[in-house]
Amino acid sequence: MRVGVDFGGTRIKAGLVDGAKVVAAESVTTRAGAPAAEVLDQIAAAVRRVGGSPTQVGVAIPGEVDGRGLCYRLPNVPGFEGVNIREELERRLSLPVAVENDSTSAALGELLFGHGHTHPSFLVATLGTGVGGGLVVDGVLRRGAHGFAAEIGHLLVDSSPSAPLCVCGLRGCMEVFAGTRGLLARYAELGGAASEPARIAEQARGGDPAAQQVFAEMGRALGAGLGQAQKVLDLDALVFGGGISASFELIEPSLRAALRATVFGPPTAEVPLLVSPLGDTAGVLGAAHL
Ligand SMILES: [Zn+2]
Repeated sequence: MRVGVDFGGTRIKAGLVDGAKVVAAESVTTRAGAPAAEVLDQIAAAVRRVGGSPTQVGVAIPGEVDGRGLCYRLPNVPGFEGVNIREELERRLSLPVAVENDSTSAALGELLFGHGHTHPSFLVATLGTGVGGGLVVDGVLRRGAHGFAAEIGHLLVDSSPSAPLCVCGLRGCMEVFAGTRGLLARYAELGGAASEPARIAEQARGGDPAAQQVFAEMGRALGAGLGQAQKVLDLDALVFGGGISASFELIEPSLRAALRATVFGPPTAEVPLLVSPLGDTAGVLGAAHL
């Protein structure tokens, strides 16, 4: 058996995985501002607690990591730049460890246990605090030359000088309009008050025009950005995961319209838009099979 770990930035989820099933799970929250060594200790402890004598461990992280396990950027968790996460965890666990970007791990989970069975070329867009991406082409997970492929959250969708600033330092990235922070900020700007996207979704379903507008704008940004990707890749599905994908019906109409405006008509503009069936197990399942 294998253990998959989904490190979300503030929460560590570890699951003992048998094929497509998570048979035991552990979850722990990290201390705000905790140094990398403490977080690594917590990950190792969660793996031990989940038990089951695993033979290998896979870890999904919300940032950029290369094939050796060296972390380049972990935007929401300071202190990991330059840390070799694989070596650090192998030393703590005495087990082989693989480390991968969380959206790339989710794409692997999707390939093995989700829509990948019927759609061999797809992009997974994980909609959460940030917007992550994982790419599968012709049934093969594509990591790119350094493991940084499909950083779709930072595709440019608004090139105006006044476009909102992204955490990456650029302006007008897709994530600024489609990530949790952007959604909450935009809703507040329009006069609404919500502490999480699920509340905005409730308001939208209840007929609040400001909440509906926030999701329509999110869909437009996703359609504009993913349309560029679709022109390069000619995919047979766009798959959506992450917390906000539970509200996908609010996003889909404007997303489809923006895709049609960006991509050259059918068949590529009519690419199926699918919600991942894996829910919040995608990260753990994918990581376990890295
Ligand atoms: Zn950005």
